Amino acid sequence: MSTRVFTTHSAEETVALGRSFAPLLAPPKLVVLRGDLGAGKTTLVKGIAEAFDAASSDDVTSPTFTLVHEYRGPKASLFHIDLYRIDTPRELETLGLDDLAAEDSVLLVEWGDKFARFERARDVEIVLERISENERRVRITTPQADGYAVSPGSSPNF
Ligand code: ADP
Ligand code: MG
Repeated sequence: MSTRVFTTHSAEETVALGRSFAPLLAPPKLVVLRGDLGAGKTTLVKGIAEAFDAASSDDVTSPTFTLVHEYRGPKASLFHIDLYRIDTPRELETLGLDDLAAEDSVLLVEWGDKFARFERARDVEIVLERISENERRVRITTPQADGYAVSPGSSPNF
C-alpha cells in the first residue's frame, strides 16, 4: 500500500493530477472515489479519461442521472459510475456492475464507499476534500509499494 497526498488549487490542476497518475490505473482496476458533492471526483475522472485516450475532458460529465458512462480507449474501457442516488444493495444489483468487470476495464466509482462490497474489493481509493473555494486535498492509496511502477493488476472480480 502506498498513499500520496496532493493539494490542487484549481479544477485544471485536478484534471492534470488525474492525467499524471492514470498510469497507476492499468486495468483491471476498481477505483473508489470518496468526497462530498463538489469535492472534485468527476473533475479528476476527466484527467484520467484523457490520459487513457478514452475521452476529452469536456466529454466527461457527471453520471449522476445516467449512473454509468463508458469511455473506451485503445488499452482500456473506463466505466465512470456515480452511486449518489443508489441507496440499497438491491438497487445496486439492478445496475449489473458485475458485468463490467473485465481484464481491460477500469471502474471509477463515485460514492463507492456507500457499499461494503466496493470497500472490500477496491484496488485504489481516492479521497477528495474541499479545503477552500478552489483548493482540494487529494489522497490516493494504491496497492503499489512506491513510485509509478505499474503492477499487472489484480482480480477484476468484485
Ligand atoms: P464531484 O464529482 O465530487 O461532485 P465535481 O468534480 O463535479 O465534484 O465538481 C467540482 C467543482 O469544484 C467544479 O465546479 C470545479 O470547477 C470546482 N473546483 C474548484 N476548484 C477545484 C479543484 N482544485 N479541484 C477540483 N474541482 C475544483
Ligand atoms: Mg461527480
